[in-house]
Amino acid sequence: MTWIDTHCHLDAAEFADQADEVARRAEALQVGMIVIPAVERANFSTVRNLAHAHANCSYALGIHPIFVPQAQEADLLFLRESVEVAMADPRFVAIGEIGLDYFVPLLTESAMRAKQEHFYAEQLKIARDFDLPVLLHVRRAQDQILKQLRRIKVRGGIAHAFNGSFQQAQIFIDLGFKLGFGGAMTFTRSLQIRRLASELPIESIVLETDAPDISPAWLHPEKNSPEQLPRIGDVLAELRSMALPDIARITSDNARTVMPRLVALS
Ligand SMILES: [Zn+2]
Repeated sequence: MTWIDTHCHLDAAEFADQADEVARRAEALQVGMIVIPAVERANFSTVRNLAHAHANCSYALGIHPIFVPQAQEADLLFLRESVEVAMADPRFVAIGEIGLDYFVPLLTESAMRAKQEHFYAEQLKIARDFDLPVLLHVRRAQDQILKQLRRIKVRGGIAHAFNGSFQQAQIFIDLGFKLGFGGAMTFTRSLQIRRLASELPIESIVLETDAPDISPAWLHPEKNSPEQLPRIGDVLAELRSMALPDIARITSDNARTVMPRLVALS
């Protein structure tokens, strides 16, 4: 039984010099693959190096909406050039983390909304041009995210930490996306997320920790870790009345379907 953590910020300052140990401990717990998305130009080399240091790590490149305020137009060209080089790197699997965040107050002023939309759309074009999946951050912005996906046709990807409606989930699925579930699903008060995790087609679900964020109920408020993924998978198994090995196998297959470059790594 092996698991894929489709979204983990192993490069985050919270892990400091423990990242190597955390990756090894996760591997011992059958977390066979951890996808590490970049958040800004400055950490592209960090996520790449982490992915190369561990057999169970891979990486994505992109500019996260929370890092858009300090991002420069030139960073988009740097991303495109970095992706061009990374296409020869088997550990590079997606464009991410990209998206829109209309929750953080600083990001919702109209000029910043426009800058976010611009960075999101331009990064979708890079994903489209290289036929790569995208790892999406969607916060209070489901419809705006979907609007651009209808316009700029990427091959699909993952709506990470999915928290939309059943109708929005169906649109993502129709556009070739999987929906990411993690720590939020472990809180009994997260009624809507638990209902989505229980009732959406199992072929549309992937697991993630988003570590060090979104700690599961048993860990909260301590920082999250990819070592928690099997136990998060156990919650999904319970919610769906399915056997744990089936959940591990199906969610891992789903991750490889949506990020085909993972196939050569696992
Ligand atoms: Zn993230």
